[in-house]
Amino acid sequence: MYAPPVQRLIAELGRLPGIGQRSAQRLAFHILRASPEEAGALADAIREVKERVGTCEVCFNLAEGPRCRICQDERRDPAVICVVEEPGDVIPVERTHEFRGRYHVLGGALSPIDGVDPEDLRIAELLERVQAGGVREVILATNPTTTGEATAHHIGDALRASAPDVVVTRLASGLPVGADLEYADEVTLGRAMAGRRAL
Ligand SMILES: [Zn+2]
Repeated sequence: MYAPPVQRLIAELGRLPGIGQRSAQRLAFHILRASPEEAGALADAIREVKERVGTCEVCFNLAEGPRCRICQDERRDPAVICVVEEPGDVIPVERTHEFRGRYHVLGGALSPIDGVDPEDLRIAELLERVQAGGVREVILATNPTTTGEATAHHIGDALRASAPDVVVTRLASGLPVGADLEYADEVTLGRAMAGRRAL
C-alpha cells in the first residue's frame, strides 16, 4: 500500500463529489508529480477560500465580508427575490442578464428521505425577509427536480400563508426536467426567467 501521507491525500480527494477511488488516486499522483510551487498553490487556494469567503448575512450567497456583492449593490431591486438552492445557482441566473433583483440561497432542497427538513434550509430566514416588507415578488428558482419542485411548493404555501400580498412565481418550463440549474444553458434559463408564471 501507499505511504500514510499518500493514503491520506487519496482519502481526502475521494471525499470530493464525483471523485471515486480511481480518480482520487489519479489526482493524488498528479499532485505528487507536480512541483512544490504548483501543489502549494492548490493548497493555498483551498486555505484562502475557507479563510476569506463566508456566507452573506442577508441572502446566504457566498460573500467576502458580511454581505455579498449583490446585496451591496444599490442598483439591484430589493423588491424581487430569486430563491435558489445553492450559491452555485446564482451564477447561471446572473449570466442570463434577465434578473435585476436580489437572491436568497436556501442551502439545498427538501428531501425528507435524506433527512433534509424545512428547518435545515434558510426558509425561516426567507419568510422573515419577506415579512419585513418591501418585497413585491418571490421567484422560486429551485431546480426542476423532484426535491426542487417539493421545495418550491412548500415555500409557495408558506409565503401565501404569511405574506398573501407578495406574488410568488416559478421559472417557466423549458428547463430540462431533472437537471440542475447549473447545467442549463443561459438562453433556456433566460427564457425560463422571462416567462416565469405564478405558482
Ligand atoms: Zn447577499
